[in-house]
Amino acid sequence: MLKAFKYRIYPTKEQEKKIVQHIGGCRFVYNWALENKIRYYETSKEKLSAYDLNYMLKGLKADNPWLKEVNSQSLQQTNKNMESAFTRFFREKKGFPNFKSKKNPVQSFQIPQHYVVDFEEGNVKLPKIGKVKASFSREFFGTCKTATISRSTTHKYYISILVDDGKDLPIKEPFNDNTTVGVDVGIKDFAVLSTGEKFDNPKYLKNSLQKLKVLSKRFSRKQKGSNNFKKAKLKLSRLHEKITNQRNDFQHKLSLKLVRENQAIALETLKVCNMIKNHCLAQSISDAGWSAFVTKLEYKAEWYGKTILRIGQFEPSSKLCNVCGYHNKELTLAVREWTCPSCNTSHDRDVNAAINIKKFSLQDQNLVGV
Ligand SMILES: [Zn+2]
Repeated sequence: MLKAFKYRIYPTKEQEKKIVQHIGGCRFVYNWALENKIRYYETSKEKLSAYDLNYMLKGLKADNPWLKEVNSQSLQQTNKNMESAFTRFFREKKGFPNFKSKKNPVQSFQIPQHYVVDFEEGNVKLPKIGKVKASFSREFFGTCKTATISRSTTHKYYISILVDDGKDLPIKEPFNDNTTVGVDVGIKDFAVLSTGEKFDNPKYLKNSLQKLKVLSKRFSRKQKGSNNFKKAKLKLSRLHEKITNQRNDFQHKLSLKLVRENQAIALETLKVCNMIKNHCLAQSISDAGWSAFVTKLEYKAEWYGKTILRIGQFEPSSKLCNVCGYHNKELTLAVREWTCPSCNTSHDRDVNAAINIKKFSLQDQNLVGV
């Protein structure tokens, strides 16, 4: 089972310079590899493999001697990543690989092996960079795979280590009507459960989002390039970073709770991009970071042997009465509560939807009433 462990690291000025050099070198090689792959394909209709690119690296290094300062395994890893980006593009129809820019918010490079984690001394030894101070919030046990060194917009440094604990994924536990929960994206709340429980973004996160609005407005009024512009920009990046951390923290806790308390979790497949076009919902959906939450839910379910069930996006989960099946075609987004004209049950819109999501997904499994 692979798990990632992320820690803050504190490079000295000298080490910082080397890290930046590694990031720059890997970005340079990535863009060079992408260009070469495209050009080679255009002329010969054949693919350049990571192996070919690694071979061509020698020539590139001769022309750009500064690349010799960069750990060559990190550069080769870049070619490997380029190859997997193309595989994803062809196999999974994901987007065409993009050129990397200096302006991307997170800058990073990878170290495939030969780095040493020392929990006792509180440092990590990186090839060509040396022993960098690290703060280890928790220890891990297992085999270290690839490490990623990253630099945030506010110039903080992190290491994320992929660790194989040598254990197999647990076997999926059986589930039934009683041990399955339906989850709906609420309009007002972050998530609403078929049990009637509602979870909203925590107050500290809402406060930060409010603050973000104020700061962005202020930032937009500053003259580009001025000192005040730079100050406001840094302030804004710091807040963005804080919001990301607060959101992740909340999503980790909620996903863990759902996975621990249920054997199966039923979700609706959302087309988030379509929903963002609908202006009313845009704010709440993009703020909620629903897809980031679902990702956390999915991998935690794998770790704990739980199942994620999905229903299609075309099932009218919020418009059907979960008791008698009446289809309320008139229901608009603004309506929070409604009473079924057929069986007289009063519904909370989101709870009713969550119950339907659970029902539909169990029906798909032929498990209703099991
Ligand atoms: Zn009804």
